[in-house]
Amino acid sequence: MDDKKPFEIARETLKLLSTRKLAPTPANYQAIYSEVAGVPIEPPFPADRLHDIARALPTKTPGQQKQRGLLESAIGQLNWAGVKSALMAYGGFSPAATLPVDARVATAPASPSALSAAPGLGASALTPDFFEQVARLIEYALPALGNDDARFVEQSQALLQTMRRPGADATVVKQLLSNFSHRLSFVAEDQAEIKAALLKLLHLIIENIGELSLDDRWLQGQIEALMTASKPPLSLRRLDDVERRLKDVIFKQTEIKGRALEAQEEMRSMLATFIERLSQMTESTSAYHSQMEASARLIEQAKTLAEIAPVLKDVVGATRSMAHDSLAARDELHGMRRKAQATEAEIAKLHQELDRVGAQARHDPLTGVLNRKGLDEALEREVSNVRRKDTPLCLALLDIDNFKKLNDKLGHATGDEALAHLAGVAREVMRPQDTLARYGGEEFVILLPDTALENGMEAMTRLQRELSKRFFLTGTKKILITFSAGVAQLAADETGPEAIRRADQAMYLAKRAGKNRVLGA
Ligand code: GH3
Ligand code: MG
Ligand code: MG
Repeated sequence: MDDKKPFEIARETLKLLSTRKLAPTPANYQAIYSEVAGVPIEPPFPADRLHDIARALPTKTPGQQKQRGLLESAIGQLNWAGVKSALMAYGGFSPAATLPVDARVATAPASPSALSAAPGLGASALTPDFFEQVARLIEYALPALGNDDARFVEQSQALLQTMRRPGADATVVKQLLSNFSHRLSFVAEDQAEIKAALLKLLHLIIENIGELSLDDRWLQGQIEALMTASKPPLSLRRLDDVERRLKDVIFKQTEIKGRALEAQEEMRSMLATFIERLSQMTESTSAYHSQMEASARLIEQAKTLAEIAPVLKDVVGATRSMAHDSLAARDELHGMRRKAQATEAEIAKLHQELDRVGAQARHDPLTGVLNRKGLDEALEREVSNVRRKDTPLCLALLDIDNFKKLNDKLGHATGDEALAHLAGVAREVMRPQDTLARYGGEEFVILLPDTALENGMEAMTRLQRELSKRFFLTGTKKILITFSAGVAQLAADETGPEAIRRADQAMYLAKRAGKNRVLGA
């Protein structure tokens, strides 16, 4: 090839385009340019795709940060050799040791500086060896990303298999890599959030240990929450729930403990006053006795009635004052006893409340499902998940049919059992990621993440079928419980409570249409 200058090649290319009557498209220009310059056509460098992958790589260690920086800059320079060596170093391979062995890279420009200046090695760099390096890199990164997301695990396996297949098609690999990196960005983000949530949790627990010294029973709630949190698989949903639970318990415990301490202080001061009064009474009683003895002596020694009269006056005076003191003291003591009993009762109540709070901050005691407060928080969490991941969320509201009649016929206690039965069946039928909450008396709300309207309605119909199969038994009587439900899929511009309101309206229409049915909002 003779050494043509770039502008000469460009001029000749334009001329040829015109003489061959070719449309001046970039593809035609490039083809003629390559022909004139005598160099093969290079496929375009997939900088955007590679940037996507680079951004999705975790940077937990300074080494990973550095290699990702090098990778980004190599992509910026459209430098395949740089991309390869940064990826290898990220995956724990020494580029210096491996590079010269790779015959295909060695046939590229000879010196390392010429190598990095080359405007892309194009398809020649997408060798089985390169795919193998990327596959290994992915394999190394996978354990850090957990296997909670089943679809991500599937995608990773499919990608690895395709990359390792002899004669793997670069276009297919590229498409799979692109899907993989998209999902990877969520998974990596989740992992980072899980870590941050775990740290926050730890801080909360440490904070709370200091508050627990007064009563060991307080530890119960904490330990239960921790047990739940530490059960694999860890999920953001579960950690978030435990964090809120702990926060609530800590807040309430601190508040109640403050009140209990105040009540105890009051008892102590009353006891002190009581002892003081008692000693005063003993003193005044003994003073009265001495006065009586002195008066008795005076009376014995008296010779005339006139001598006795003033002594008698003293005796009457002392007795009256003694009686007055005793009465006042008795009233005061009665008052104190009443107050002490009230305080004692309050302390006992506070202790009971404390026990209850530890276990049931966000759960309904009758059915064990989330209460309204628990639902509000779960809803907030699910809605923010929807906004982040752009997945559908269904909200179902169900209301038991003719529950008043059931109560009237069988009694309130049986009504309570029926509510617990329904909650139990619903919990079994639902998926682990679904949330069940008691919304009001005989109304429940179910949150169904990753579920579109049609599937949400199917899920509720399934629950209806299951309830009709599993009778509620009271004594030997089989009772069929039915419900009417409305299902709404959260809209893009809608808040959680607004969607529940829509589900409620649909439920109302289901009642109007004859009950025992599911309607979409
Ligand atoms: P509908 O089919 O139209 O929903 O009729 P219903 O009788 O179920 O509805 P209504 O709203 O008229 O009555 C609900 C009843 O639920 C009234 C109330 O006594 C009862 N209820 C609410 N909470 C509880 C509870 O915790 N335990 C028991 N046993 N009953 C409850
Ligand atoms: Mg109702
Ligand atoms: Mg009802």
